[in-house]
This record gives sequence, C-alpha cells and structure tokens, in this order.
Amino acid sequence: MSSQKVLMRMAGLVSRWFFVLVAFALVAIAQDSPSTPQTLPARTQEVTSGAAAPNGEAIPAPALTLNDVMDRVVEREHYFMAQMRHLHPMVETYLQDLKNDKDGNAFPVNDQYFLGRLDMSDGPEDVSFIGQPGFGRRMLAKLTGIYSLQFLPMGFAQMVVVDPDFQKKYYTFNFVRREFLGEVRCIVIDVQPKEHQRTPHFMGRIWVEDQNYNIVRFNGTYDPQPKINFFFHFDSWRLNMRPGAWLPAYVYTEEANVKTGLTKTLHFKAQTRLWGYDLKGLGRKEEFTQILVDSQDSVKDQSDTAADATPVVAERMWEKQAEDNAVERLQKIGLLATPGEVDKILSTVVNNLLVTNNIDTQTDIRCRVLLTSPLESFTIGHTIVISRGLLDVLPDEASLAVVLAHEVSHIVLGHHFDTKLAFNDKMFFPDEETFQRFEFRRSTADEEAADAKALELLNNSPYKAKLGNAGLFLKALQEKAPDLPHLIRPHLGNSFASAKSIRMAALLTSAPALDDKKLDQIAALPLGGRIKVEPWSDQVELTKAKPVALTSAHEKMEFEITPFFPYLTRISTGGEKMALTTSSPQPQNTPK
Ligand SMILES: [Zn+2]
Repeated sequence: MSSQKVLMRMAGLVSRWFFVLVAFALVAIAQDSPSTPQTLPARTQEVTSGAAAPNGEAIPAPALTLNDVMDRVVEREHYFMAQMRHLHPMVETYLQDLKNDKDGNAFPVNDQYFLGRLDMSDGPEDVSFIGQPGFGRRMLAKLTGIYSLQFLPMGFAQMVVVDPDFQKKYYTFNFVRREFLGEVRCIVIDVQPKEHQRTPHFMGRIWVEDQNYNIVRFNGTYDPQPKINFFFHFDSWRLNMRPGAWLPAYVYTEEANVKTGLTKTLHFKAQTRLWGYDLKGLGRKEEFTQILVDSQDSVKDQSDTAADATPVVAERMWEKQAEDNAVERLQKIGLLATPGEVDKILSTVVNNLLVTNNIDTQTDIRCRVLLTSPLESFTIGHTIVISRGLLDVLPDEASLAVVLAHEVSHIVLGHHFDTKLAFNDKMFFPDEETFQRFEFRRSTADEEAADAKALELLNNSPYKAKLGNAGLFLKALQEKAPDLPHLIRPHLGNSFASAKSIRMAALLTSAPALDDKKLDQIAALPLGGRIKVEPWSDQVELTKAKPVALTSAHEKMEFEITPFFPYLTRISTGGEKMALTTSSPQPQNTPK
C-alpha cells in the first residue's frame, strides 16, 4: 500500500473517530445530569461486534445504574490498593525508541531497559524500586532521560494504578458499552476528571468485569497535562490471579513524535511486564527442598550405596550442590520460571543433540527459563538457562538448537563452573545484588571452543539441514544489534551478539541473504510471541495463539515490541486449587 493510500485511510479513520468522539460528548452531557440516573443495558444485545459470549452465557445481569456500578468499582479499587501494598512483583520495562522510515513506518533505533521490584508498601506516593546497586541505579539514572518518572504524576506505579485516591467526586463517568475481553464480560466506561482540579487525574477508559466490578483494563493518560512536560499514554491490563483479585500484568505504552521541553522529541513504544507475585510462598517451601543433593544418578563407580562418596562422586555432588543453590536462588528471586512444560521442550532438543552425537554426560542436563527479555543463555553447572526474550524471537527449532548446542558444548567440554556457590552462606545476599553476586560469564577462549564444538554437534544432528534458517536469525540479529544494545546486553551470561561479533558466526555463511521485503522469510519474531508467563506462580507455557499470515513486510517486526491483548479468563474454583498447588517448586532431582 502506498503511503498516500495509508494517509487517506488514516484521514478516514480520524474523521470517523472524530464523529465517535462527538457522539460520546453528547451522551456525556446527557448522563452528567444528576436528575436522570442511568440504567445500564442489562443484556448482551448491547455488546458490540465480536463480543458474543464464548460459552453462550445468557445470565441476565441485574439492572444497575451507572452510579451503583461506580460505587462498587471505587470500593474494589480501594481493596486493590490495599492488596498491592503487600505484593512485591518483579517489574520489567523494555522500551524501543523509534524513527520513521520514508514510508512512515516506525522502526527501532535505540532501546532502554529497566528491571526492578515494585514496592507500594508506603503508599503510591512513595513508590520506590529496590534497584540493584550498580545495575539498577545505573539503569534508573539512564531512564530518567526519557522514560522517567516525571512522565507520570506519581511515578512508575501510576501505570498499574488508576488513581491512588479513586473517588467518584473527582470524575465524570460515561457508560460506553458492554464488551468481552477474552471470556470475561466487561462494562466499558469512559472516565474524565471534573474541571478545575489542581492535581492530575486519570483520563481515559476503564473495563470493569461485571461480576465483582474489578477494573481489568484501563487505557488513557493523566490530566491536566503539565505545562512543560507531558504524561504519557498507557494501556494497562490486569489478570485474575487469585480468587477475587485482578492484579497488574501488562502495560503497553506508546508515544509518537511528542515534543517535550524545547528540543526533545519522544517517539517510542514500551512493554512493561509484572510477575513474581507469589515469591514469599516459594521461599517457605524451599526450606524443605534446598538441601536435596543428587546422590544416585551420577554414581557409577560404587556398588555399596551406604559407603562414603568416592572422590570423583564427591566432586560431582559438590558441583551439583552449587548448581542447585544458584538455580533455586534465581527462582526464589523471581528471575527463573518454575520448572515446567517449556523446560521439557528444551530438554527434548538437547537430547536430540546428545543422542545423535553419542554423548553421555553422566549427569542429566536440565533446562530452565530466565523470565527477562534481553536475549541471553548460559549454563550453571549442568543447567542450561535461556531467557524468555530469546525464546520469543527465535524463529524455529533449528535456531533454538543452535543456541542450546552452544550451551551443551560448554558442559560437554567441561568448562569451569565456580563451585563456591556450594557454600550456602554465598546465597545470603539481598536479591537486588543478584547481578553482582551471580556471574556465569565465560572467557573468550571458552566461547570460541563452545562455538566450534556446537557446530560439530549440529552437523551430526537432525538440525543439520535447517542451519541456513538459524544463520538467517543470526544475520538479522547482527543487523539489528547496534540499534538494540539493551536487548542484546546479557545480565548473567555472555553477550549473544555485539556490534562487532556474534555467537556461532560460522553459520552466517550458510544463510541466504536477508530480504526485508520477502514475506515468507522470517528471520526472527517479535518479542512476546511465544512464551506466556503466569505472573502469580512464574510458570511459563507456550502461547496457544496460532501464527497469522503477514500482509505486509512491516508486520514482521523482528525483535520489536507490540501492544498486549491478553485473553482474559476468570479463575474457576478448580483453577484456584491449581494455582495454589503448582506454585511450589517441583525439584527434578528428588531421589527416587
Ligand atoms: Zn557461551
């Protein structure tokens, strides 16, 4: 489509939107009159297109006035605030600065990253990140440049809280329609601050689920806007994580060509994810699992199990202990997903590599998912860790095999693993120091040796015929790396790619040429397309959404971020039990 046509379509959209806005304004005037209490349309016939009940649900809702509904919403929102004071989820924001190409399509030219923990215990005015000294502070300082707290009245937490002092008297509410978000029927309400307020208030739209009247999504900004700066726009989603509790999980932010100050222009999109809500529970249960030491699988040179470990076995056990300590600690902090289905898929690929190469590693190789976005993978003893972001962008199994082959090679080659972590006192440090205390980085020599060994493994494996695709992924990564320094910057392991070099560079030669225009050439996927994180228990699973056919090259969005549209569901009674029992770690090393 030519840019002119796009412009015309945009103009069409604008005029239609304008019409809708005028219509809203008229309704707003009508509804604002206190003498005419509005009764909400009670049934699904009010629901607009595409919002049929998935389960054919046709329970007539009691006819409530908008006023009644807002009483309940305000009450629930206060309860929500009270809950949030006790919860300290992990928060990650990944932001891409954008520029338009000649066709008007935006592409990333730089990026920023923040990882921390949300702390609202002292009230939202006092929101503070427990930043990691060094890492966190540095990132936070950089963030103040653009994506800073100054762009929201009460700082970051504002994106997950509609209004810390949400009261009806500050706002005008207008019923819009009923709508399904996933399987959850919602009442959609426009919210506007009343005039002449000194402090900024939320302005936008809220989606309220119609059973308990929790806000499940809100989308808008704050008003009045400050004179010099501005407040950015956000689309904030909550998931039903506990019975009756809808907690923040995703926030999408986007601004296009906004002038701030005198010279700066902001053009970016950002994804914020929250997870790790149930970390306290994990800590308690861990007391019972922490001291498990693998004692049977790896023992080959002793017949009497009642005997002391031989020196070789003792060394293996010692390494295993260090490995378990580090892995369990990372899980407890909320950086590693709980063991699950995705680990098994990764293990299958690892096994394919090992079996076709006739390798017996004596100790089983385990795989775990790091919950963060930056692309990285590393090993902790015999555990391979791969980040959610990397799993998201890998286009196919062969590319995944390339990543895993490199890590398997570190293990097969017996590269050094620091066993000081086997001393439990090494685990006594504040969570925010993780990135200083844990370091799984390898020397350049080890990296090169692992690359060479990995090529050997891959050439004997079923992935041999498809390495061209993996090479294509590496090419795309190499091309984008200079513009996405924070996406490729590892926190615990080695860099996957830099502006100068890339892991497994030998595969580049076998890859076809990158062609941005070719729709069937998918070198990499957008972030967030493959792995779904359950924010309460930190379980991960592969997303069920099927890939859609692309209609333009712009939709490839390799390594890019996109808005969120989670399929909302309610926790059923069965689901509650599930969530309660599955939050405990399921150690794979339990002696049989
Ligand atoms: Zn490596």
